[in-house]
Amino acid sequence: MDHRSTPSRIETLAVHGGERRPGPDGSVVFPIYQGTVYTYDDGASYHDIKYIRLNTTPSQKYLHDKIAALEGAEAAVATSSGMAAVTTALHALLKAGDHLIAGDTLYGGTHTFLTEHAPALGWQVTFVDPGKPETFKPALRPNTKAMLVESITNPLMRVARHKDVVAFAKQAGLTTIIDNTFASPVNFRPLALGYDLAFHSATKYLNGHSDLVAGCLVGSKALIERVRETLNHYGGTLDPHAGFLLARGMKTLALRVRAQGTNALALAKSLSAHPKVAGVNYPGLETHPDQKHARELFSGFGGMLSIQLKGGVPAAEKLVASLRIPTYAPSLGGVETLIVRPSLTSHAGMKREERLACGITDDLLRISCGIEAQEDLVEDFRQALDKV
Ligand SMILES: *Cc1c(COP(=O)(O)O)cnc(C)c1O
Repeated sequence: MDHRSTPSRIETLAVHGGERRPGPDGSVVFPIYQGTVYTYDDGASYHDIKYIRLNTTPSQKYLHDKIAALEGAEAAVATSSGMAAVTTALHALLKAGDHLIAGDTLYGGTHTFLTEHAPALGWQVTFVDPGKPETFKPALRPNTKAMLVESITNPLMRVARHKDVVAFAKQAGLTTIIDNTFASPVNFRPLALGYDLAFHSATKYLNGHSDLVAGCLVGSKALIERVRETLNHYGGTLDPHAGFLLARGMKTLALRVRAQGTNALALAKSLSAHPKVAGVNYPGLETHPDQKHARELFSGFGGMLSIQLKGGVPAAEKLVASLRIPTYAPSLGGVETLIVRPSLTSHAGMKREERLACGITDDLLRISCGIEAQEDLVEDFRQALDKV
């Protein structure tokens, strides 16, 4: 369906956005075009030849339209992973000698890419606290080209001063890039606020079933074309079969993310009232430092929270061992609830002092809420806390 004529509510967009009506041979579900080669259209330029790596085959174009519809974007492109999305975007925007301003608590893979690979590429990077707009201007250099932040940070669920990021970048002439994985387009659509490029690890909420790796980028036609051409050269393209699974997952995105948010809020409230819990980080709680700001920008607070128990590491270990529903595993955004200690997983690569300085203590537990019954999750944590 032409998404200009589709109602704009996210539940409807998730189902109908980008869909072809009628589909090939009348199919309601868009098929998988697995072929790598197509007959040559006279006059097609290199980047428009139909070939999977060039992101131009029918299943890929369908997926791109669906993603663009969900984010309210002019254009989208899928990538083979979330890391392929961010690294390709940076390669499209930066050349040797350019400078990037980046948030200081980025996803571990992004942070490591910027600290370990950017210098060899001749890119300069300055990390700022995206919650402190007064730190932006001092970071600006004559060669600054772009600014990179995340919608909600991991694992403390801090929310950047998004309006200030956009206003600062516009004034300084920078291209803004945002990792919208944690919020998902159900809760936040960064392009509407003025961000230039948004990307996802579609491995997480967009797919939502913990069974594929993918990424995507959304933005204006011109910017996405620039990214797509870079992607075509670097080769981080998504296979149509994985793309089919991603499109299928996306149809239930709104339902899943709402259920995950409801579960996260219920769990956050119940845990913050528990005498054995020292602290709960969830932007939907009154006690969260960014709550007011999150409420203004987001239509929901997401399915991720983190907690600290009064008994430190032994208590955290005991809790994890006593829980029946959550699986002890990294990653996030799937239908099943997961729990993990970021100090041992996502942030294990950081120096301990640096990690502690950002508030990521050894005993911090991060929870990715699934779509199980709210009462079952709350009750499970209660029985596990009784054993701590
Ligand atoms: C997982 C994740 C990534 C990386 O995505 P992959 O699909 O694993 O490459 C990037 N950003 C955030 C916030 C993530 O959670």
